[in-house]
Order: sequence, then C-alpha cells, then structure tokens
Amino acid sequence: MKEKAHQILAAADWLLSKDIQAVFSAIDRDGDSARVVGGAIRNTLLGYSVPDIDIATTATPQDVMRRASNAGLKAIGTGIDHGTITVISNGFPYEVTTLREDVETYGRQARVVFGRDWTKDALRRDFTMNALYVDRHGYLHDPLDGLEDCFARRVRFIGDPDMRIREDYLRILRFFRIYAAYGEGDMDADGLGACLRERDGLRHLSAERIGHEMRRLMAAPKAAIALRMMNDCGLWEIATGGLARIDDYDALRALDGIAAETRDPELGLIVLAGFVREDVDRVADRLRLSNSERRRMMTGWTVYKQFRQADTWPDLKWLLYVHGRQGAIDGLLAYWAAFEGQYRTGSKPDFSKSLQTLRTADIPIFPLKGADVIALGHPPGPGVGQLLKSLEQIWRESGFTLDKKDLMSRVVINV
Ligand code: ATP
Ligand code: MG
Repeated sequence: MKEKAHQILAAADWLLSKDIQAVFSAIDRDGDSARVVGGAIRNTLLGYSVPDIDIATTATPQDVMRRASNAGLKAIGTGIDHGTITVISNGFPYEVTTLREDVETYGRQARVVFGRDWTKDALRRDFTMNALYVDRHGYLHDPLDGLEDCFARRVRFIGDPDMRIREDYLRILRFFRIYAAYGEGDMDADGLGACLRERDGLRHLSAERIGHEMRRLMAAPKAAIALRMMNDCGLWEIATGGLARIDDYDALRALDGIAAETRDPELGLIVLAGFVREDVDRVADRLRLSNSERRRMMTGWTVYKQFRQADTWPDLKWLLYVHGRQGAIDGLLAYWAAFEGQYRTGSKPDFSKSLQTLRTADIPIFPLKGADVIALGHPPGPGVGQLLKSLEQIWRESGFTLDKKDLMSRVVINV
C-alpha cells in the first residue's frame, strides 16, 4: 500500500513542479527537513485536485523566512506567531508551518511549542487521513498509520475523539465536512458519538468559522448524508439556530446531475432552512453570509415562494425580467426540491423544460425609459414612474413583443 502511495505521489504534477522544488531546496537543508502534509496528500491519493499546499518543517519560522529570502523567494510572515510563513514561489503560495507539539502546563490546558518531532506534530492534527506527509521525492511518512484509512476513505479522529473535540469544537464540523467531501461507507461511530456528546461546544464557535465550514460542507458530494447525520445528532440546530428540511435537501442533491447550482450554499440554504423570510435572515446572519450571498438567497427565496403559492405556473420570462437568471433558476430548483421532498401535491410540473427555458431564453429588456415619455411631452415627476409601470404591464401582456415604437404610440398625454 505504501508503494502504491509512493507511485501516485512521486508522479504528482505539483510535487514535480519547479516551484515547490525551489521551496524544498530553500528549507529542506542544514539539518532541517520539510514535508508536504494534509489535504494535498489526501486529495492526490484519492484522485482529487489539489487547491492548496501545506508544508510542515522542523525549521523555525525565522529560519524559514531567512532561507526563503536567501533563495530569492518571497516570504510573508503574517502567521509567524503560529509558526506559519507563506512562501511564494513563481507566484504560487505555500503555507510553511513549523512542527508543533503540545506541552502540558497547568492542569489540562495545553500550550503549543515548536518542535522537531514528526509524530507529535501528527498527533495534533484532526483525522488520520490528514496526518500523512510526503518528502520532496514523493516518499510517504505515515507516523499514525493513516494511509489505510485514507484509501478506505474512513474519516477517523486521531486519539480520543471527545478530547480532541474539546480542544477545538470546529473539529465537529470538519468531521462532517471531510466525510461529505471524501468519505465512503458509514460515518465512523466513535467520531459520531463524540460529536453528539460534545455538541454544546459548537456554541463557542464564531459565526465566521461555522459559516466557512458549512459552506464547504454544502459544496461536497455527500452533503445530504452528512447534513442528515448532523441533524439527527442535534447539531444543525445548534450551528444555525433553526430547523432543517432534510428531505427537501436530499431531493435537491438528487438533482446534482441536472444542475450545478445544487452545490451552491445559497440555494442549499433556501431549501434546507428558508421556510419563511425570517429564516433566510437568521441563517444569513448565523453563517455570516456576505451581502451578495444574502441577496442571492433572498432573491431565490422570493422566486421559490412564487412557484409555491401560484395557482398557475408563473410566467418564466417575467421571472427572468424581474429577478434575473440566477434568481429565477434558484427559485425553480428550490421549488423542484420541495415538490419532490415534502410538498408533492397534484400533478408534477415539467421542471426540466422550465429549467431549460430559464437557462436559454433571452432576458426581456423593457424598451422604454422615463426620458422617452418626457420627450413625448409628459411632465417630469412621479407620474412618469406610474406611466412606465402601466406600459410595462401592456408590454408583458404582449409576451414582451411590443417594441419602443409600439409602446410610444400607446402613450396618451393628458396635459
Ligand atoms: P482543504 O485544504 O481541502 O480544506 P485540508 O485538510 O488541507 O483540506 P486545511 O484547513 O488546509 O485542510 O488544514 C491543513 C491540515 O491542518 C489538515 O489536513 C489537518 O492535518 C490540519 N488541521 C486543519 N484544521 C485542523 C483542526 N481544526 N484541528 C486539527 N488539525 C487541523
Ligand atoms: Mg489545505
């Protein structure tokens, strides 16, 4: 198994690249060693792309700074207090972190110091599959026997799960997120039990940290399974302060092959937690959504409500015109999920056809502006808006076919 890992890793583009080899040449010298650790190894072994590369080293942060600069690489010391230096090689950032170990001080309070022991560094990490290291030649170092778990896609805590969670409650969310992204088979029972027992600790986490992990969880392939588990363990309510409509979310993710938007947290959150408008605001606050994420959620929710409450199928072109393509598609998909999930009533609309229309139809553009009716002699003022509104209605009823000239000919000015 180790041989197989070596073959995969030694052939990885990112390890063969001149950029990372330059970082190794700078740091992995003079009695110090450096190894890539964490997600880059896990993702490579499992066949995923590698978005960022973390390097662990025995060199002190000061030595990393100095050696990188001497080698002509840019070194940024923003994380220097935690032992992390960002080394930029040919434009690519590498997070280089000095090995750490826990030192017992007062009672149970752990203090962290820089160290030179790879096993101790591994013991501080979260899951066995995240504690794999590789040197510059692609040789794997596996101090805690995580390789088997990695290939089997088993997400298991290092050490006693309850204790590890108490050190950092974010690990509860990481457990579900890493499972959703890379896991296979049942979730690890010991880990799940610990998450359940320690769940109250989630209340200590900042909204930013919760939001960051939950967004990433929702983008993952097995998000529906992980969220159902979280909900069953009482975690969703603590993390977000609300109820989750898991069946609807399952139905949304069953549409993964049909629409890429199903992995977007904004849409996922409408389906899961946006039952009434207040829920949308609460979830957006609780997960610290950005203004644009919040806007997208609110627009999609508004369209979703229109689908749910309408007696007849809404005018899709009008939805595109009023809410834009993204909002219209989000709303349709949210309704589709809810229909398949809980609210299946009456005959099933042709969702695929409507989705196709929303994706491909031109968005109507209303051909008139206020200046046009003023040019015809209408006095400026609030009346202009009212007139435009009624013309817009006529335009809509024409199936968006009337052009500027047609509409201008209908303007009657009573001065
Ligand atoms: P990805 O980059 O895809 O999110 P990753 O596993 O690389 O996955 P990072 O947040 O980049 O995640 O962290 C890098 C490594 O640091 C992890 O693989 C793990 O070994 C360790 N780590 C990260 N967060 C924690 C944590 N909260 N507790 C313990 N170890 C952690
Ligand atoms: Mg990473």
